Amino acid sequence: HLRPGGPKQNPFGPGTLTRVIAVTSGKGGVGKSTLTANLAASLAHQGFRVGILDADVYGFSIPALMGLAPDGVAAKPTRLDDMIVPPVGHDVKVISIGMFVENANAAVAWRGPMLQRTITQFLTDVYFGDLDFLLLDLPPGTGDVAITVGQQLPNAEVLVVTTGQSAASEVAVRAGVVARQTGQRILGVVENMGPLVLQDGSAIALFGQGGADTVAHELSIGQDKAVEVLARIPLSLGLREGGDQGTPIVLSHPADPAAHAINELARVI
Ligand code: ADP
Repeated sequence: HLRPGGPKQNPFGPGTLTRVIAVTSGKGGVGKSTLTANLAASLAHQGFRVGILDADVYGFSIPALMGLAPDGVAAKPTRLDDMIVPPVGHDVKVISIGMFVENANAAVAWRGPMLQRTITQFLTDVYFGDLDFLLLDLPPGTGDVAITVGQQLPNAEVLVVTTGQSAASEVAVRAGVVARQTGQRILGVVENMGPLVLQDGSAIALFGQGGADTVAHELSIGQDKAVEVLARIPLSLGLREGGDQGTPIVLSHPADPAAHAINELARVI
């Protein structure tokens, strides 16, 4: 894979044997990064070779979610010749913008062209080796990154994350539409933060329900094949705590309903 001299190539473009899955959402805080981390850990646990490219410049949380920022500071990648060697957490190779900035505030300046260059460089200069899956954690919304991904990874499949709330689902539709305009295929929709089941067996739908159905319906209009809701993940204390501790719940508590939903998703995609 090392190509001394000569221009470096992006090994994940058209013709690659790696499935490239871009995880996107219309807005922040819907659990996109939490899902990306757990999905990656689940796929790796199944025996797949998995990498994550964390391009969420505004909220790079993947290193912490994957146990690679124990004291709040993201692990630093090492170098091999002119390649960047990604740190490994829970058997997943991880590269993140958070590994290259001094502090979170530095990220504010990362816009447009710089972001595009960084993603391009992550694709060409990071030594992932052969992967079965490369998951991309994209910044929420539409724009530069979606266009860059469309140009560099037109083969990417897009997983759209929303909550049940219309405020999240309306913008998620737009993120899906832009992804499609840049040539990517919609893999499906995930509804996160579904009803929280209480000890007495009752449930509260804190973030509403049905957002993913709306997104799937809207993104299916005019398509040959309907876009499907691939998973519904409930609100889960364990999922949140596992994230804070850097221990994906899919590994530590697979019986938790949220973990179960994500492990199932990893089996069907
Ligand atoms: P995004 O990447 O969309 O901005 P995050 O993955 O950072 O969202 O999640 C936002 C917050 O919500 C985090 O604190 C995370 O732990 C929490 N969270 C995500 N999904 C769930 C869930 N199903 N149940 C409980 N907390 C969740």
